[in-house]
Amino acid sequence: MTQPVQLRVVSVTAETDAAKSFRLRAPESLSYKPGQFLTIGIPSDRGMVARCYSMSSAPHEDDVTITVKRTPQGFASNWLCDNVTVGDTLTALPPSGNFVPPAQDADLLLFAAGSGITPVMSIAKYVLMQTDRRVALFYANRDSAAVIFAEQLRAMSEDHPERLHIVHWLEELQSLPRTADLQRFASVYPHYFAYTCGPEPFMNAVTDALHSLGFPSDRFKREVFLSLSGNPFEIDEVVSGPGANLARVKGSCNGASFAFDDWPSDVPLLQYLLSKGVDAPFSCRNGECGACCFQLIDGTVEMECNDVLDSYELAEGYRLACQAKPASKSITITYA
Ligand SMILES: Cc1cc2nc3c(=O)[nH]c(=O)nc-3n(C[C@H](O)[C@H](O)[C@H](O)COP(=O)(O)OP(=O)(O)OC[C@H]3O[C@@H](n4cnc5c(N)ncnc54)[C@H](O)[C@@H]3O)c2cc1C
Repeated sequence: MTQPVQLRVVSVTAETDAAKSFRLRAPESLSYKPGQFLTIGIPSDRGMVARCYSMSSAPHEDDVTITVKRTPQGFASNWLCDNVTVGDTLTALPPSGNFVPPAQDADLLLFAAGSGITPVMSIAKYVLMQTDRRVALFYANRDSAAVIFAEQLRAMSEDHPERLHIVHWLEELQSLPRTADLQRFASVYPHYFAYTCGPEPFMNAVTDALHSLGFPSDRFKREVFLSLSGNPFEIDEVVSGPGANLARVKGSCNGASFAFDDWPSDVPLLQYLLSKGVDAPFSCRNGECGACCFQLIDGTVEMECNDVLDSYELAEGYRLACQAKPASKSITITYA
């Protein structure tokens, strides 16, 4: 599951002046959920640099598509947009991530800004084509030229006028969206499942708006776009030192239950579970992507680093397995 895959580039499309979509031919064995991401390896003077890119395609479509927006002075996004052409091959870790539609038959309230539309587009296409749920999308951009997927979204609205409601918010006309603006939009959909992806101030405003409207945390997911600092293509063995205490851990992952009683206090949970043969999800191994997120049911863990979980998610018991070390004798967890 975690071996790198080779993806051949079959088309490159300029979505805007600053964003390109790369359509990739994947092995048949590669499956993914709407909203998940690939971790792509990019060659550099310092060796391989890893960056996550969400799929903008939906699983029912042919091929896998990622959409990359240039970050000013950014290394990988500019390298991909400047260098990758049809016929090239990209190396990627398999799809990962928890920013996926709920199993329940729920309508979706989507908030995206800029390149944050990428996983949101995947989710919207899946929900409209594969279910009969409704979708409301609030999509913020600097100006109309910066709107990624403008034409596709217009076509989707025409195809699903009863089920898709889109509000385009342009900062050059309306200034940055404030909490009150987002609240007004969300208040029409109090029972929907909410998803947000975009720059941090935008996501914070969405979070505040939803919490002030009483959206519970289990009906609200965020995807944080960060650059990975480590290289998950190189796996370091973590070895327990002398004097480590041992904890019990039990739980379930991918429908399979497990129970172990020798989790060393100096070894991260992810490393421990993988060594026990548990098919635990992960990508960056650095507390930066959220792919290894689990929920604590009982007991305590300590995390060294956390760049993705907010205070609401922490309060709900969510933790990162790549960072979590045991801080109590007995711990019970579950994966979403
Ligand atoms: C789960 C996930 C999904 C994502 N999906 C997408 C997606 O679908 N589309 C997309 O476009 N992006 C996506 N991203 C973001 C993407 O992974 C990269 O973070 C983004 O492309 C920027 O990478 P970069 O190498 O171009 O920029 P970087 O080189 O990492 O630079 C980022 C910023 O840091 C600054 N910087 C760089 N080096 C230094 C330094 N030494 N000192 C000070 N400042 C510095 C740069 O000026 C720039 O502003 C996703 C991220 C995650 C975690």
